[in-house]
Amino acid sequence: MTETRSTCPYCGVGCGVIIESDGPQISGVRGDPDHPANFGKLCTKGSTLHLTATPAITRQTRLLQPLLRQQRGQAPVALGWDAALDRVASEFGRIVREHGPDAVGFYISGQLLTEDYYVFNKLAKGLIGTNNVDTNSRLCMSSAVAGYKLTLGADAPPACYDDVNHAQCLFIVGSNAAYAHPILFRRIEAAKQNNPGMKVIVADPRRTDTAEQADLYLPLLPGTDVMLFHGLLHIMLWEGWTDASYIAAHTNGFNELKALVRECTPDVVAQTCGLKKEDLFTAAQWFAQSPATLSLYCQGLNQSSSGTAKNATLINLHLATGQIGKPGAGPFSLTGQPNAMGGREVGGLANLLSAHRDLANPAHRAEVAALWGVADVPSKPGKTAVEMFQAAADGEIKALWIACTNPAQSMPDQATVRRALQRAEFVVVQEAFATAATCDFADLLLPATTWGEKEGTVTNSERRISRVRAAVPPAGEARHDWRIAVDVARRLEAQLRPGLPTLFPYETPESIWNEHRESTRGRDLDITGLSYDMLEQRGPQQWPLREGEKTGRERLYADGVFPTADGKARFSALPYKPVAEQRESRFPFSLTTGRLRDHWHGMTRTGTIGRLFGHVAEPSVQMNPQDMERRGLKNGELVHVTSKRGSVVLPVQGSRTVHTAQAFIAMHWGPEYLSGRSSQGEPLAGVNALTTSAYCPTSKQPELKHAAVKILKAELP
Ligand code: SF4
Repeated sequence: MTETRSTCPYCGVGCGVIIESDGPQISGVRGDPDHPANFGKLCTKGSTLHLTATPAITRQTRLLQPLLRQQRGQAPVALGWDAALDRVASEFGRIVREHGPDAVGFYISGQLLTEDYYVFNKLAKGLIGTNNVDTNSRLCMSSAVAGYKLTLGADAPPACYDDVNHAQCLFIVGSNAAYAHPILFRRIEAAKQNNPGMKVIVADPRRTDTAEQADLYLPLLPGTDVMLFHGLLHIMLWEGWTDASYIAAHTNGFNELKALVRECTPDVVAQTCGLKKEDLFTAAQWFAQSPATLSLYCQGLNQSSSGTAKNATLINLHLATGQIGKPGAGPFSLTGQPNAMGGREVGGLANLLSAHRDLANPAHRAEVAALWGVADVPSKPGKTAVEMFQAAADGEIKALWIACTNPAQSMPDQATVRRALQRAEFVVVQEAFATAATCDFADLLLPATTWGEKEGTVTNSERRISRVRAAVPPAGEARHDWRIAVDVARRLEAQLRPGLPTLFPYETPESIWNEHRESTRGRDLDITGLSYDMLEQRGPQQWPLREGEKTGRERLYADGVFPTADGKARFSALPYKPVAEQRESRFPFSLTTGRLRDHWHGMTRTGTIGRLFGHVAEPSVQMNPQDMERRGLKNGELVHVTSKRGSVVLPVQGSRTVHTAQAFIAMHWGPEYLSGRSSQGEPLAGVNALTTSAYCPTSKQPELKHAAVKILKAELP
């Protein structure tokens, strides 16, 4: 038996795993006791990873050879790799020649490795000349990126997991960490047990399992977070709980913010957020007066039409109270996916460039062009996730290359996404799992390697870079994501820059990573002191880790100096705005979406394991029992849940975790579990038949967490 150290491919906690393999077969998995993210622990998802890679499961779920669909709606037929790669290059080359570079789009994934991400970004922005490369991480953390940059000057989470052990107050908001980041949550539980004086505040519309652990639970109304944060600051100011010397020495813009929050009195906030005034005072006092306060937050803040404002106004509280840059204190966004952070590092979003550079900055574009050896990087902003599928639905984008993500299930407003996939002239889906709903829309399917078969790196929520290692050979004819992108890039080079040396000379993931490392020189995430060798010998490391340094930085801004022009952080005076689609008489419920404990995203992997259905066996819409009684609904009865965009049919389940006038559906259930129809009558599936593509104007992250719906008993035929 062979043992290989690698990283769990599920959430952003980034737990280390030891893969046990017997020849070409993965036979077991256990937590890596030396990995600083988990110290040997694994949750239900991580500890069953090996069961998703048995020969029987692989045969049923994996895409094992390239497949071409000659005609839409027909079964695809096998073809060789050379023919498949030639086909991608010829179709993309043709469309670029006929319609220009912005007629193609790349939709990639926070589950790709940093090396994969880097190559896709360079292929789109450096070779083809379009910034139409965006990622499913847009649905996960782009509001956190925008919030950090707006206030602290750089997209760098300042805290680390160990801060949980130093905090005296934990403010968990918009995060069901008990389900979404289970191993971090166990650390929280242990810290609370070891430190009974620690206060935990949880703000969430649903009384989740995370909220059950709170000393103070704030059941705020969906989307009212900005008002809550402004209200807490109002109380802190009134009570004299802000840190005037920190504000004066290390920040700008406080007077403007003070003027804005003057109107956010406890009465107004209690009314708007649906909270008790005394709870607001308690929360403000614990946050401001604890020796160290750490905020943990995730999709409840990010997946919102006010996502940037929610992030920035929470960070305001840390700056106003000096709760940042010291052990146990700071704003700490949790990344949903295993490598959303790595994607940010290489600039794998439509508005970013390598090493946290901005596309809008001419000097940054020139730096990246010089690094890549190209004349320039286009200045026109690329299409972000929602915009990209809208552009394809409108006929503006004619070719889509989708890698390691499943937009036909995970994007909001599924009706538009499906129209986009049907209207595009050429759709490439590069994917490990043939069971992903998006495969049905592909003209060409490219089989990709996945966990256990791949080499590279990922970065977790605390800026820690870990190695991902291959324990077994690829399944079937699957190839590595970076390799596929490089092979197509070289074919495109023959069309777009004939006779010139290749921009993609890579033969190993390490050679790609070394180029990425060089791009970080002098930047906030500088990793010029790090190497694959060092990761091999000393294990996972946090950035920054500059040339000559021996270790990375545990936490940032201890000196109170921020990466802004004058070294000061900036308060953000952004006003509260309600959710994009408010409840009204025809759609009287606020629908929220979220995770189950034992499943991951679209269940392509976790859905193969029977025991992971032990916690929740089937989809349901959860409602408050009072609402059910008023509507004459009983547990298990089928209901139509309908928004302006579509409708799904599923059983209703009473739950006191859901407040009146609200409803909850888990995000994971795909076509085989949850069917529905668009408002035009087209077949749709999953909760995203209902969700809206309204997005935050700054981060462009869609409001997956809220849609107005009606719930009616389904009449049986
Ligand atoms: Fe994997 Fe996240 Fe569970 Fe850790 S907490 S084992 S990274 S799913």
